[in-house]
Amino acid sequence: MKNNIRFIEEMPKVELHVHIEGAVSPDTYWHLAEKNRVKLPVESLHEWKDFFKFKSFAHFIDVYILAVSTIKKPEDYKTIIKDFFRYQKSQNIVYTEAFLSASFMIESFNQEELLHNIKEALIEGENEYCVEVRLIPDIARNVPESADAVVDFVTNGFKEGVFIGLGLGGLEQGYLAEKFVKQFQRAGEAGLNLVAHAGEGVGAESVLSAIENLNAQRIGHGIRVLENDSVVSLAKEIQIPFEVCPNSNYRLKIVPENENHPIAEMIKQGLLCTLNSDDPLMFSTSLIGEYKLLLAQGLDLQTLIQLNKNTINSSFLTDVEKIELNSKFDRFIDEFK
Ligand SMILES: [Zn+2]
Repeated sequence: MKNNIRFIEEMPKVELHVHIEGAVSPDTYWHLAEKNRVKLPVESLHEWKDFFKFKSFAHFIDVYILAVSTIKKPEDYKTIIKDFFRYQKSQNIVYTEAFLSASFMIESFNQEELLHNIKEALIEGENEYCVEVRLIPDIARNVPESADAVVDFVTNGFKEGVFIGLGLGGLEQGYLAEKFVKQFQRAGEAGLNLVAHAGEGVGAESVLSAIENLNAQRIGHGIRVLENDSVVSLAKEIQIPFEVCPNSNYRLKIVPENENHPIAEMIKQGLLCTLNSDDPLMFSTSLIGEYKLLLAQGLDLQTLIQLNKNTINSSFLTDVEKIELNSKFDRFIDEFK
């Protein structure tokens, strides 16, 4: 058992569902607040770290809004992205496709400067930490008025090699995928990869809508697909990857605390699952923590190995790059003592 935990900690991992803003340390937000003279409702870094810890959904929203409010200048994005690289490295993550919340920031920044800073952060971060990060800005469903501007921003960034796709996040209830058909069509035609959070706050019909209306290539969370057998059959048939984030589901009470996570059932039904941490620092979790949780819930090491392989294979890397990452992982498995 002890060896399994060390295996999980040390194995080279891939992550496909993580929000940059939710994976930045409270220290970095504190320093940005000091630099940008943003008043936080605490008196010290120590108190801020305590405030930052997950307590409830309402508190999480407060933390999120406060944390993001410390980002005032395009170069601040460089700071948070570099911090993100450092964090991913701490989890032995070698490759990540990460979300950037575009709906809340595009109006406030000069886009050219923003793209320039993000591009520099990606180059410098990769050199410094030997981790590869590719970005997927997302539209917040509950800020639909930002959708067109986000697509413009993402398309421009895609042309410059800064972004690889468009995502859909935010509040699922009351904001159907159908509202964003036009924007996803435009992004798809521009060559962007398309992903959407669905089947988290709303049931299986939301997963179906993301597949049919948005041409989503992966589903964020999607655990509520299990509520409808015909959507499960479709998802199984097309082997659409699900970006499953167990601790996030427990924190947001999508899954009751006293129940095992439904990922085991999803795997049993033949769905393609990947494992991710969503907003690790705001949810007091980590990617290593997600693997440990599933191990504690009775999933065996072979299943966890398969989850990391699924994650590699569900990425937007080229086939050659996927083969390289799989070989790296296989080498690790062979040599692990
Ligand atoms: Zn998410």
